Amino acid sequence: MTDLNIEWQSFSMFCSNCGKHLTGYMNSEGLIKVECGRCHSVSVRKFIGRRHNRIDIYAPKGQVTIPAETEEVPLI
Ligand SMILES: [Zn+2]
Repeated sequence: MTDLNIEWQSFSMFCSNCGKHLTGYMNSEGLIKVECGRCHSVSVRKFIGRRHNRIDIYAPKGQVTIPAETEEVPLI
C-alpha cells in the first residue's frame, strides 16, 4: 500500500447567488468546487495570486442568468 500524504484543508465562502455559507476542499488541480445546497448553483474558486481569487458561478441545470435591467434616469 502506498503512503499517501494528502492534507485536506477546508475553504469557506458564501454563495454569490443566495448567500448561503459554503465549505469546499481543494482538488489536485488547485480548484475548489462547491455546489450550494439551497439554490444548487456551482461555484469554482481558484487562487490566482496572493491578492487575486477567481470565482466562476454556474447556474443550475435549466436556469439561466437574468440580465440586470437598466434603470432609466427620469428627465428633469
Ligand atoms: Zn446558493
